[in-house]
Amino acid sequence: RVVAPRPLSNQEEALERALRPKQLDDYVGQHKAREQLTIFIEAAKMRGEALDHVLLFGPPGLGKTTLAHIVARELGVNLRQTSGPVLERAGDLAALLTNLEPHDVLFIDEIHRLSPVVEEILYPALEDYQLDIMIGEGPAARSVKLDLPPFTLVGATTRAGMLTNPLRDRFGIVARLEFYTADELKQIVTRSAGLLNVDLADDGAFEIARRARGTPRIANRLLRRVRDYADVKHDGRVTAAVADAALAMLDVDPAGLDVMDRKLLDAILNKFAGGPVGLDNVAAAIGESTDTIEDVIEPYLIQQGYLQRTPRGRMATALSWSHFGLDAPSV
Ligand code: ADP
Repeated sequence: RVVAPRPLSNQEEALERALRPKQLDDYVGQHKAREQLTIFIEAAKMRGEALDHVLLFGPPGLGKTTLAHIVARELGVNLRQTSGPVLERAGDLAALLTNLEPHDVLFIDEIHRLSPVVEEILYPALEDYQLDIMIGEGPAARSVKLDLPPFTLVGATTRAGMLTNPLRDRFGIVARLEFYTADELKQIVTRSAGLLNVDLADDGAFEIARRARGTPRIANRLLRRVRDYADVKHDGRVTAAVADAALAMLDVDPAGLDVMDRKLLDAILNKFAGGPVGLDNVAAAIGESTDTIEDVIEPYLIQQGYLQRTPRGRMATALSWSHFGLDAPSV
């Protein structure tokens, strides 16, 4: 999948880092999350306290990691980064926590994938800045309590619903990231084009923006692929026409749906008569995991009105039928 949000190659990751805005002012969109964070950061600084723990949730590529880095920077503290699946043992987390300086930010990506033992250790750390760990094994094992410096956990997850309740309850600030508008993405690709020295026309920027599934990571990736196309097939300038030809080659359709989007909708329309159909059945029909469907593919289709989640399963909407040039069945 050309525009899959993950996984990224090393080179892609380096490029992403280079394009990542460093301060809140350069962070486009997400007005609600930004407004909240601006106030709480200011208050924490005024009182000389650590910022309350922050949970960021939303589909991949919407800027959770970027925002975590910006929060640390605005607070004027260090950020330590890790992810749920990487922290296998309690000791892994303990090592990170005991190395924090006062008010530092610990960023845990994919926090819904923490193992239960690690999560247990995290609770007292979040609540009382205390670490309760067992040292040694067998009869010699003993539990030690360590005081931690006050710190801020920033957790990121694709779906808030995947967190256990006790973990979710320990976040004082919960911000949901939304899909970006075409105008917001246009600002983002225009800024990226400046950093990457791409000759990007205004209408070219808009064409990429409106077909990037509301997602900055995809917008930046499409920009690079369209630039390649413009360099090889044209004189390097990215106009709307050049962007359109390149996006067609990348299988991004005029409405901005990609191959996986269309595969999913096509299956629901043609194999399940438009639904309702259960998630497991759709997943089997298109050979994708239910997680990928729920985290990556579906949120945008639902937001755009192609798909509905009903208690009886997924259903295609009238927009889906017409997108494929089909007549919706009359009921
Ligand atoms: P997530 O952690 O949610 O998967 P990232 O923070 O890694 O997403 O964002 C992916 C890329 O998109 C970043 O490299 C950054 O360049 C870009 N990006 C994300 N959000 C914004 C934003 N609000 N403004 C500008 N660029 C953004």
